Amino acid sequence: MDDLKFGIRNKRGDWAPSASLELPPFWARPVSLPKVLAWVPEYLWPWNAFHLTTALLWWFFVVPDVAVLKTLSWGWALWLYAVNAAAIFVFYGSVELFWYVKRKQGTRFKYNGKFPADQPSDVFWFKSQNIDNFLRSFFISIPLWTLVEVLFLWAFANTWATWLPWESYWPWLVVLGLISPAIHEVHFFCIHRLIHVPILYKWVHSVHHNSVNPSPWSSLSMHPVEGFLYHAVAFWHLLIPSNPLLAIYQLHLAGFGAVNGHIGFDKLELTEGQALDSHAYAHYLHHKYFEVNYGGDGLIPLDKWFGYWHDGTKEAEARMDARFKKKKERLNAKANRA
Ligand SMILES: [Zn+2]
Ligand SMILES: [Zn+2]
Repeated sequence: MDDLKFGIRNKRGDWAPSASLELPPFWARPVSLPKVLAWVPEYLWPWNAFHLTTALLWWFFVVPDVAVLKTLSWGWALWLYAVNAAAIFVFYGSVELFWYVKRKQGTRFKYNGKFPADQPSDVFWFKSQNIDNFLRSFFISIPLWTLVEVLFLWAFANTWATWLPWESYWPWLVVLGLISPAIHEVHFFCIHRLIHVPILYKWVHSVHHNSVNPSPWSSLSMHPVEGFLYHAVAFWHLLIPSNPLLAIYQLHLAGFGAVNGHIGFDKLELTEGQALDSHAYAHYLHHKYFEVNYGGDGLIPLDKWFGYWHDGTKEAEARMDARFKKKKERLNAKANRA
């Protein structure tokens, strides 16, 4: 595919889409019903449908019987870890293998013209972004993802949370499933904005931001505090009357869904004329500029409301620069007073 039909490439070889990021159409005024209707399939397919499918597979084939879940044990916890780790290895690993190792589409649609493997850096373990990010994912974040999973399954099994059966409560559970990506967005925005507070940034979140040019393994490369808070989004289903299947779906939106922001390509070419939209641009801009786009795609546009939204346009760039300049002036004034 010709990526220059969809965007521009600068002298450094970085590609940017020409279309600006858009909020879901129900936030536009006046609301256009045809646009909202056209957005719905895009919302469901393919990413949210994929996360729901894996949640169903886990619930029916991976998660042990309720009788087993009632008692904490290393046996079923390690089993869940093994399956989660294997699934991430295959899912993230296949994007890594085809797009970053074999480089099947070169740098077409790639935001940053360089590949992390070609840029060794001292900030990473073994000077390698790939090895560093890989080890952090499998030995820190995926164990914490599994810990969250074990805890909520144990709580459901012991009826410490409200477990609604599908037969009688399906309308509410369907609604809850439809808004789960919005729960993810609000939770992620809040914890993410929190760990950008300078002291927490330095201690916790800088680990994730070492990857200025993110690749799939960067997705779950986190400090343990972030790794736990990020996956703890599933605990909302212990507070809201829900069902363990939806808690798993919520967890998969976080765990598997983390890759979306870190694919590094705007489109993954599947065949000659077919490509998969990655939805990675908003979060790519976060990795590039740090203090914009704390949430996701703007399903709940908290970034817009708080003035952090960068949609990729020159106007957004100017707004961001003005905000950074003001912040610098504020900090300088404070330093002078001290
Ligand atoms: Zn990130
Ligand atoms: Zn961040």
